[in-house]
Amino acid sequence: MEQRQFLLSQKDIPREWYNVVADLGSPPPPPLHPATREPVGPDALAPIFPMALIEQEVSSQRHIPIPEDVLDVLSIWRPTPLFRATRWEKALGTPAKIFYKWEGVSPVGSHKPNTAVAQAYYNKKEGVKRIATETGAGQWGSALSMACCFFGLECTVYMVRISYNQKPYRRIVMQAYGATIHPSPSDQTEFGRKTLEKDPDCPGSLGIAISEALEDAIPKPDVKYSLGSVLNHVLLHQTVIGLEAKKQMEMAGCQPDVIIGCVGGGSNYAGLSFPFVPDKLNGRDIKFIAVEPAACPSITKGRYDYDFGDTAQMTPLLKMHTLGADFIPPPIHAGGLRYHGMAPLVSLLVEKGLMEARAYQQLDVFEAALSFAKAEGIISAPETAHAIKAAMDEALAAKEEGKERVILFNHSGHGLLDLGAYDSYLSGKLQSV
Ligand SMILES: *Cc1c(COP(=O)(O)O)cnc(C)c1O
Repeated sequence: MEQRQFLLSQKDIPREWYNVVADLGSPPPPPLHPATREPVGPDALAPIFPMALIEQEVSSQRHIPIPEDVLDVLSIWRPTPLFRATRWEKALGTPAKIFYKWEGVSPVGSHKPNTAVAQAYYNKKEGVKRIATETGAGQWGSALSMACCFFGLECTVYMVRISYNQKPYRRIVMQAYGATIHPSPSDQTEFGRKTLEKDPDCPGSLGIAISEALEDAIPKPDVKYSLGSVLNHVLLHQTVIGLEAKKQMEMAGCQPDVIIGCVGGGSNYAGLSFPFVPDKLNGRDIKFIAVEPAACPSITKGRYDYDFGDTAQMTPLLKMHTLGADFIPPPIHAGGLRYHGMAPLVSLLVEKGLMEARAYQQLDVFEAALSFAKAEGIISAPETAHAIKAAMDEALAAKEEGKERVILFNHSGHGLLDLGAYDSYLSGKLQSV
């Protein structure tokens, strides 16, 4: 029996987050004020986020301590296991070794609570009463609802309408934690009402939902906004994934040649990959692959430029790969990947040539997810299925070349609340987009 499990114990939970900015040599392009195009200072962000998160957003300190109260909550499910997919390797007939970091063991089934817990903690500490946010497929909303519940905060979630209709179960999860949910575009905000006037059947998008949550939060001093991906501080909080994975790969006695993650806003991918970036800068040959849907190809087809993070153009301008803040992606099942932009830090690393990206069609992605499910048992989130497809292609390429290759991918979440998507695929109704 090959060793499959590489497990850490509670004392191995990382005590510090890793900030990749410290290793980039120069500061990343700053966010700009849309009117003046001058860098925005911390004060401009103060109505939106608590100060501690703003400081992390602009920090270039390599290691940032994780507060004890945050560690206490993370220890409910962390450290997460690293598995070697030995049965899938056999099924694919590949000489490659495939490892996956399994983030689906969190209570809500994805990596997202890693940052939700930290964000709720800092908001509570600074006297915030309520957090407003957006959610696509509902994973972020569920994670933040749980975190707010743990820290005694109210939570309002603007949920992209197409997902609200396709995925009622995550709405129920959020409600179980005590959150209030509005389908977006909603009649709760000026921007939502304007959008519905123009298009009463608008499926919504993350960009629209972000605008609604910001409009809700900004004028009220005890209400703040929270974002589940894209921003530097969110990526920072996710680095616990990669820091654990580094120790676990050592336990496995090998180093990854290829590191893969799916990208919506880039946070789970960055969380796994960033702690390995110093190894690459020190000369180790690692191929980093960010995987996106062909229906929303921010990196592979977008431009690298300053753009808004939301549709109503309320956010500062971020330098990133973008399809345009008014881009409304087709309603694919990987709702968490339907975002027009990309994390500025992931974009920057791609621009520097340290990372690459590829895009896959929805049908190919589900085929790979079922190949994985039939060998390893896990029904994966449609988002994660993109990473699985890339891992499969890398493993099949290794077979073609007859070469060993160590592949590590982030398994960002389970798909047990996405069975509608699997139903569409299995009954032949899924579109190739
Ligand atoms: C939200 C989500 C993603 C995409 O978001 P990132 O910020 O790019 O990680 C991927 N997988 C799962 C399971 C998600 O819930």
